[in-house]
Amino acid sequence: MEPLEVLRHLWAFAAAESCGACSPCRVGSRRGLEQARLAGPPDDGYSAMLNVMSRASLCAFGRRLPHAVRSLVRAYGDRLRGWGG
Ligand code: SF4
Repeated sequence: MEPLEVLRHLWAFAAAESCGACSPCRVGSRRGLEQARLAGPPDDGYSAMLNVMSRASLCAFGRRLPHAVRSLVRAYGDRLRGWGG
């Protein structure tokens, strides 16, 4: 499995499992999945979105999703450059 496919899977899990009670996680997880499905690098708002998710989500699910994304990016290094925010 390619690194970007793994990242897409992570965002798809996030979007599917977000309960939708708060906007940072509900919108951020869907936006993350949209971005990961595109062929190019994430847009300029991606990094800010990760920061909002980690600071403003209501529960640990949303607050820790950016950490999971960044951990994946660290593991794959240059192959996921730009995806850690
Ligand atoms: S952070 Fe928690 S409360 Fe907010 S949408 Fe995600 S799962 Fe629901």
